[in-house]
Amino acid sequence: MKHSNNTKYEKLSQARADKCYEDSVGSPESGSINLSEVDEHYMWLITNEASTLGTEEVAARLRTDLRTGLRWREAELRRQLTGYNELTVKEEEPTWKKYIEQFKNPLILLLLASAGVSVCMKQFDDAVSITVAILIVVTVAFVQEYRSEKSLEELTKLVPPSCHCLREGQLETFLARNLVPGDIVHLNVGDRVPADIRLFEAIDLAIDESSFTGETEPSNKITAPILKSNGHSSMKNIAFMGTLVRCGNGKGIVVNTGEKSEFGEVFKMMQAEEAPKTPLQKSMDILGAQLSFYSFCIIGFIMILGWFQGRPILDMFTIGVSLAVAAIPEGLPIVVTVTLALGVMRMAKRNAIVKKLPTVETLGCVNVICSDKTGTITKNEMTVTVIVTSDGYLAEVSGAGYNDQGEIHIHKCDSVDRARESIYTLLEVGCVCNNAVIHSDTLLGQPTEGALLAAGMKHGMYGVADKYVRLQEYPFSSEQKMMAVKCVPKYGDNKEETYFVKGALEKVLQQCTKYLINGTVQPLNAKKEQEYLAEAYEIGRKGLRVMGMARGSSLQDLVYTGLVGICDPPRPFVRESIQTLVQSGVKVTLVTGDAQETATAIASMIGLDTIHSQVLSGDQIDSMTDHQLEQIVNSVSVFYRVTPRHKLCIVKAFQRNGMIVGMTGDGVNDGVALKKADIGIAMGKNGTDVCKEAADMILVDDDFHTIISSIEEGKGIFYNIRNFVRFQLSTSIAALSLIALSTLMGIPNPLNAMQILWINIIMDGPPAQSLGVEPVDKDVTKQKPRNVKEPMITKSLILNVLLSALIIIAGTLWVFKREMSDNVITPRDTTMTFTCFVFFDMFNALSCRSQTKSVFTVGLLSNKMFLLAVTLSVLGQMLVVYFPPLQKVFQTEALTLTDILFLVSLTSTVFVVSELKKFMERHLEKRQKSFKSELDFV
Ligand code: ADP
Ligand code: MG
Repeated sequence: MKHSNNTKYEKLSQARADKCYEDSVGSPESGSINLSEVDEHYMWLITNEASTLGTEEVAARLRTDLRTGLRWREAELRRQLTGYNELTVKEEEPTWKKYIEQFKNPLILLLLASAGVSVCMKQFDDAVSITVAILIVVTVAFVQEYRSEKSLEELTKLVPPSCHCLREGQLETFLARNLVPGDIVHLNVGDRVPADIRLFEAIDLAIDESSFTGETEPSNKITAPILKSNGHSSMKNIAFMGTLVRCGNGKGIVVNTGEKSEFGEVFKMMQAEEAPKTPLQKSMDILGAQLSFYSFCIIGFIMILGWFQGRPILDMFTIGVSLAVAAIPEGLPIVVTVTLALGVMRMAKRNAIVKKLPTVETLGCVNVICSDKTGTITKNEMTVTVIVTSDGYLAEVSGAGYNDQGEIHIHKCDSVDRARESIYTLLEVGCVCNNAVIHSDTLLGQPTEGALLAAGMKHGMYGVADKYVRLQEYPFSSEQKMMAVKCVPKYGDNKEETYFVKGALEKVLQQCTKYLINGTVQPLNAKKEQEYLAEAYEIGRKGLRVMGMARGSSLQDLVYTGLVGICDPPRPFVRESIQTLVQSGVKVTLVTGDAQETATAIASMIGLDTIHSQVLSGDQIDSMTDHQLEQIVNSVSVFYRVTPRHKLCIVKAFQRNGMIVGMTGDGVNDGVALKKADIGIAMGKNGTDVCKEAADMILVDDDFHTIISSIEEGKGIFYNIRNFVRFQLSTSIAALSLIALSTLMGIPNPLNAMQILWINIIMDGPPAQSLGVEPVDKDVTKQKPRNVKEPMITKSLILNVLLSALIIIAGTLWVFKREMSDNVITPRDTTMTFTCFVFFDMFNALSCRSQTKSVFTVGLLSNKMFLLAVTLSVLGQMLVVYFPPLQKVFQTEALTLTDILFLVSLTSTVFVVSELKKFMERHLEKRQKSFKSELDFV
C-alpha cells in the first residue's frame, strides 16, 4: 500500500517518462538503447568535488540546464545507469538458511535427539513419527515467522518521500526515488532533502543535519564554491540527502543519489536498526517466560513421577519435550506482531499510516485529541468570499475553486470605478505577496494564497506578479502570521522599492501608519484601526479566515489597503466523528493560528461546546504558570492564535493531568509538539516532511475522520489480541494438566508425543492467528479509552481461561476413561481422546471470538479467516485420523460416524457454557445499568 498521492505522482511521471521515451526512441520493442554510448558522455561528480566547483561548472559537467532541468527521456536514461535513488538494506539471508535456523530451538533439538535415541533402540516407527511431527511443527512456525517479517518489511515502505523537480522547464512533484544526477530540485521549508544537492540558490536556507553530524543548530547554506572541503560541515553549499530544511528555501543540482550519496552508509545502518518492541510485545515476552517456567516445573514433575512409576524412560522423555513444545506459547509473540502489523496495514487502507507498532496500542488509550483547524477539520479549499477595502468598499465574491469562474459583486456605492480600483490595489498585494501558482485550474502551493490568486483572476488580474521583480521575501511563519515581499517594478523608469505585506489583521495593522482612501494616503489613527478590527470581527464571526493587506516603502511604515474574508468550510462528517468521539469519552479540542471569532465559529459549526467550555489564546497561555494551565486546560475547547510553541505547552499540560494526547500538526515547528505527544499526527497532504518525520502517524488525506478510524482499529486490535491470548492460554493449560493429571492418577498417557505436537500447531497456528483479524466490533469502539496501565491479562480473563480449560480436561479425561474401560490401550482410545481434545479446542476458539458478545450476534460467518482456519484444522484432523500414512505417524485409527457425532456433541459443551456465561454477564450488566438509572432518577 502506498501513499495514494505518491502513487498518483509515480504513475503520472512514469506515464510521462514512457511517453517521452517512446517519442524519442520509438516504441520500446523497436530496439534497446545503447547504454554504454550514453555512459561515455558522463563525468559523474563526487559530492566533495562539486562543492569546490561553481554552479555553472557543475551544471555543465552534469549536462543539465539550471532553468529547465533535464528532459524526461534523458532522466530515464540516466536512471537506467544509476538505478533508483534509494537505499537497499543489506542482503538478506537466503530463505533456506532461515528455515534451518528454526531447528536451532533447544526444544526441537531435544525432540530430534529423542528421535535419534528411538533409532538406536530400533524403534523405527517412533523415530519416523517424531521426525514427521517435528517437520510439520517447524514448517508452520517458519511460515508464521516469515509472514511476520514480510509484513514488518511492508511497513517501512508506507511513506515514500516525494520531491519537487524541474523537468523540461516544468516544476513537477514525483517520488524521490526517480531522481537522477543532473536533476534540478527545489527545496522548501520542511522538506526532506531527497538526494545530495549542490545549491545554486539559497534564500535564508538553513538545514538540520543533526541526524548525521549530531549538530543541533541548523547549518546555514550558501551557494558560492568553497576552496577546499574538509568534512561535511564545511560543505556549506551542499544539501545532503536525508537532512531536513528548517528554514528558507533553495534550488540545486542533484549531484549524487542513492548509495552514492554522502550519507548512504549511515542511512543503511539506520534502516537496518531493529524496531524497539512494543509494551504489549514486551509483556507477551514476560508472560511467555513465566509460562515456560511453570511448564518446565510441571513437565519435570511429570517426568520424575513417571520414572518412579516405572514407565519407559524414552516415552516419558519424548512426551515431556513435546509437552514443552506445546505448552510454551512460542507462537504468542509472533502472533502478536503479525496481528499488530496486519492492523497497521488495515489502517493504511483507511488512510492512516502508522510508523511504529507501539502506536497501534496507544491509539486505543487516547483520551484527548488536539486537532488543527485548517485542512483537518476544514476542507482547506479556500475561497475569498468577502473583500473590504480600506476606503470602505464592500464586495462579495462568488464561485469556488482555483479558477476565474465567479463574479466580484460590489455593494451599492457612489463610484463603481473607484471601488474597482481600490479592490485592484488590495488584490495586487495579495497576488504579488504570494508563492502559489494556478496552472490550468489546479493549485500549486498554499490554498490560502491560491484563494487570493483566484480572487485576482475574477477581477481580471492575470500575471500581476510578473510586473514586479522580487528582491526579497520574508516567508510566512506561524509565529509571525505575516508574509512580506520587497519588489521593484519590472518595466518603466520607476525603480522604487515597494513592500507588499499580507497576514493576520492585527499583525499587519501594527506595521501600518497610514491607510489608503480613494487613491490618497491618510494617517491611521486609533479610531480607524478599531473600525478595521471591528470589520474583521464581524467577518470572522461567520467562520471566515481574515487576512489584512498593506503596502509601502518601509516595513514599519505601511499603508493599509483592506482585508479579505476567506471561506474554508468544515469537512463533511466531522460533526458526526466528533460526536462519536465525545460519546466514547474522548475530548476534542481545536488548535488554530486563526483569530478567536473564526475559531469559535468553526468550532460551533462542528459541534464543539464553545458556550460551557473555555477559549484560550496563545498569549493567555504565555501569561499563565504551568500549574494554572494544568488546572484550566481540561475545560478548554478552543485554542486560538497559537504558535507551535504553545502546542507543546498544551500537550505537556494535558499529560501532567494524566491524559494520553493525540496532537496534529503540519508545520516545520510542530515537530517538537508531535514528538512530545503520545500520538503525534502529521498531515500527509499539506504537512511538511519535518513533521512527518517527527510524527507517529500520518493522515494521508488530512481528514479528521481518519483519526477516528485509526482509534477504532487500535481499540479493536487490543481486544483481538486479548481473545487469542485467552485461546492459547486455555489450550496450553488444558494440555499440560491433562498429562499431569493422568500421570498423577497412574493411568496411561491419553495423548502421545506426535499428537501433542499436532495440538501445538493448531494452538499456535492458523486458528489463533485468525482470531487476531476479527473485524473490529462497533461496540468496542464506543467503549471508553483503555487505561494505559490496565494489564492485558485481567482477572476475568483468567477466570474464563480456567473455566474453558477445566471443561476441556474433564471432557477429555472422561472420554479416555470410557474408552479404556477394557484396560488395554489401543490406538482407538488415543484417537478418541486426541480428536476430542482438538474438537474441544475448535469450539473453544469459536467462543473466544468475543469476550462479551454471543458469537451469533458477532456473526458466525463474519470472520472469513477464522472459518478458513477452522475448516483447515478440522480437515487436517480428518486426514490424521483417516489417511493411512498419517495414521501411521500419529498412531491413530479410523473412527465411526457415531464416534464423531458423539465427540462433536460432547465438545460443544465448552462453547455452550461460555456462551451461557456471557449471556448471564450481559443480563447482569443490563440489570445494573437500569438499576443505576433508576437511582439517578430518584
Ligand atoms: P491554522 O493553520 O491553524 O488555521 P495558520 O497558522 O495557518 O493557522 O494561520 C494563522 C493566520 O496567519 C491566519 O489567520 C492568516 O491571517 C495568516 N496567514 C495564514 N497563511 C498565510 C500566508 N500564506 N501569508 C500570510 N498570512 C497568512
Ligand atoms: Mg496552517
